[in-house]
Amino acid sequence: MAVDISVPLQGKIALITGSTSGMGLETARVLARNGASIALHGLGDPADIATILDEIGDLGVAARHFGHDLSAHEQGANLVPEVIAAMGRVDILINNAGIQYVADIQDFPDAEWHRLIAVNLTAAFTAIRAAWPGMRDRRWGRIINTASTLAMIAEPRKAAYVSAKHGVLGLTREIALEGAELGITCNAICPGWVLTPLVRRQVEAKAAALGLSFDDTVREHFVRDLPTKRFVETEEIAAAMLFLCSEAARSITGVALPVDGASIVV
Ligand code: NAD
Repeated sequence: MAVDISVPLQGKIALITGSTSGMGLETARVLARNGASIALHGLGDPADIATILDEIGDLGVAARHFGHDLSAHEQGANLVPEVIAAMGRVDILINNAGIQYVADIQDFPDAEWHRLIAVNLTAAFTAIRAAWPGMRDRRWGRIINTASTLAMIAEPRKAAYVSAKHGVLGLTREIALEGAELGITCNAICPGWVLTPLVRRQVEAKAAALGLSFDDTVREHFVRDLPTKRFVETEEIAAAMLFLCSEAARSITGVALPVDGASIVV
């Protein structure tokens, strides 16, 4: 599916955390195609990242990579200041980096709780705080947090993830209020299941535990109970992100937008 809506973003600088993979990468591509310069962020193979930068650069916009590890507080706090130092400013901030850890509550390790909260929640707070003065002074900003349907409902064995994503929604509403008179919007996208590397790892773990093939596990344990009987596509997430960056969306703020094929209404 190609994203066939367009939004003029020429001259804007967009930082998308966790954009070396999955829905963040697709969002980086779509924003670049619409004219935004891209601060690509995330972990990964340097050769793959160089290829992504070339691909985005070929669209005629500036693109640089930042490899800050968001599980380390100081690196997370330095990300936006270093993007501003290198690229001039941040007009669009998409807090998208995220990790998952699955365990029964009695076995959930402290270290994994703290790591997940750091990447999925605290990094969004520190990035918003650092991007804020520039957005406030220019009286324009777009902040989008990738939450999840698990910001609205819960799922067993995902205590840290569900807690972090509920927190992301609270942060989104708070920032929407603080930005309301300043031309800064803040919204959350709540994806349903999307077959990115993050979910691929969950399918593989379940397939191994059940002794099933990858495809059978997807069919029987991931999409069978979804109203649409299919995963959401990364392009569909990117399209929603793009719309929220537009002028037309300037009064849409504080919203939690499910892009989930009605999975939370069944
Ligand atoms: P993904 O694994 O493809 O991408 C995750 C990105 O985060 C990568 O760029 C990775 O390098 C980066 N990242 C991970 N740990 C990091 C760290 N310590 N420091 C810096 N960067 C780090 O996953 P995705 O599915 O595209 O996930 C993107 C967002 O969407 C996440 O916030 C995730 O929770 C959320 N989400 C995903 C789904 C889904 O079904 N895939 C559903 C709902 C919400």
